[in-house]
Amino acid sequence: MDRTGPARVRTVGERRLLESFAAVPPGERVRLAKRTSNLFRAREGTSTRGLDTSGLTGVRVVDAGTLTADVDGMCTYEDLVAATLPLGLAPLVVPQLRTITVGGAVTGLGIESTSFRNGLPHESVLEMDVLTGAGEIVTATADNEHADLFRGFPNSYGSLGYATCLRIELERVGTCVEVRHVRFHDLDALCAAIAEVVATRSHEGEEVDHVDGVVFSRDEAYLTLGRHSDRTGPTSDYTGQQVYYRSIQHDGPSPRRDLLTTHDYLWRWDTDWFWCSRAFGAQDPRVRRWWPRRWRRSSVYWRLVAADRRVGFSDRLEARRGNPPRERVVQDVEIPLGQTAAFLHWFLDEVPIEPIWLCPLRLRDHQRWPLYPLEPGRTYVNVGFWSTVPGPGPGEELGATNRAIERRVDEVGGHKSLYSDSYYSRSDFDALYGGDAYAVLKATYDPDGRFPHLYDKAVRHA
Ligand SMILES: Cc1cc2nc3c(=O)[nH]c(=O)nc-3n(C[C@H](O)[C@H](O)[C@H](O)COP(=O)(O)OP(=O)(O)OC[C@H]3O[C@@H](n4cnc5c(N)ncnc54)[C@H](O)[C@@H]3O)c2cc1C
Repeated sequence: MDRTGPARVRTVGERRLLESFAAVPPGERVRLAKRTSNLFRAREGTSTRGLDTSGLTGVRVVDAGTLTADVDGMCTYEDLVAATLPLGLAPLVVPQLRTITVGGAVTGLGIESTSFRNGLPHESVLEMDVLTGAGEIVTATADNEHADLFRGFPNSYGSLGYATCLRIELERVGTCVEVRHVRFHDLDALCAAIAEVVATRSHEGEEVDHVDGVVFSRDEAYLTLGRHSDRTGPTSDYTGQQVYYRSIQHDGPSPRRDLLTTHDYLWRWDTDWFWCSRAFGAQDPRVRRWWPRRWRRSSVYWRLVAADRRVGFSDRLEARRGNPPRERVVQDVEIPLGQTAAFLHWFLDEVPIEPIWLCPLRLRDHQRWPLYPLEPGRTYVNVGFWSTVPGPGPGEELGATNRAIERRVDEVGGHKSLYSDSYYSRSDFDALYGGDAYAVLKATYDPDGRFPHLYDKAVRHA
């Protein structure tokens, strides 16, 4: 990302992207043509032309001296981590699913177990090149002429432009992560432990570099505390017959300890898509034995879900049982820490989904990011739940459970990610997701509407 020359030399990938943009007649919509996705909302059938991103999937430079990397916008974290780990480095936040791309995580708000100390992926971006609706690539930083785009890009989901290259910060990591799974019988006690870890970066005298958690039920919940380490010794492998999330559960009062290579720790949730692979039988030992190892990854399960949606297999099965299609409840929400235990109790009472994933986060920056206005200085807990619930009965509205969750999240001062189904009215949406700031950005960077509006993408499935 050399910004010194007057006319920067474009990479082959950028040239291909620009040419494919120019080939679309003015006034027509454009979209990304990517090989992978982690988006969950269905998209209406589209005739929109896809832009060529094939040359924008690599790692350009990893600089161990400045602890930075220059990365193409469609580079997956799997490829990025493969380039940084041999140097003992990792991005500050590595989302759990291998095929999430750096551009996708920055525009769609990734999160991970370092987020309690490193914030969200966009907060370790130093600068980024963005293809705007005008068909040009601009460089946005926190304090240049495109600082408004830099701050408004997170949570814009490609509706203001596409990141083609990002310079991001890295941090040093060990070869392994020592983990402790600490059991709680009470959700208030678990939240108190999160507050302590966030404040002190330690728990019972041991340093904490990573923290996330799983709620199996009201009286069985865990925090998993990880610490960078160069310890040698046997490490666990959850890409084989063992399933990671099952390794967390235990009865005794002492934490269960484990050692994973940093590589395996980073991808611990990908192998079984957290726990969602059980829907395909992949956790049944009789099936797992025959399920090829290379197909035990989130991108394969994602394709299976997409295929099911296309052919309507699950819906037809429900219909044969006399039931309406089940309602998909696949969401991540950010709840203020002080409200988290109450929210979880409400959720466990109202929504028949378990386990539930927890991940504390705190913005790194002192300023808000306008399209996802979490409060600086406040600790939130990302609460993730990904399953289905019975569909609406006669006279009930579509999406009843998702709507109830939206209302509850709003009542407790939380925020909801937009990668999945949303039901907000336009006015509520604008109030929650920085509508005024967004309108100005949209008029500046996509005046001809070459990309869909954020509301149309998030709520109307554009
Ligand atoms: C079941 C499930 C679980 C999830 N769990 C996690 C999790 O644990 N941790 C986590 O961090 N995230 C999680 N996510 C959310 C995920 O990080 C976001 O959906 C992210 O946007 C996906 O990035 P992607 O690269 O796969 O993009 P895609 O899924 O391909 O696209 C997502 C959106 O981003 C836009 N986009 C993609 N690339 C760019 C770019 N370069 N520039 C601008 N816009 C772009 C697309 O237009 C699209 O609107 C989860 C999502 C699902 C469905």
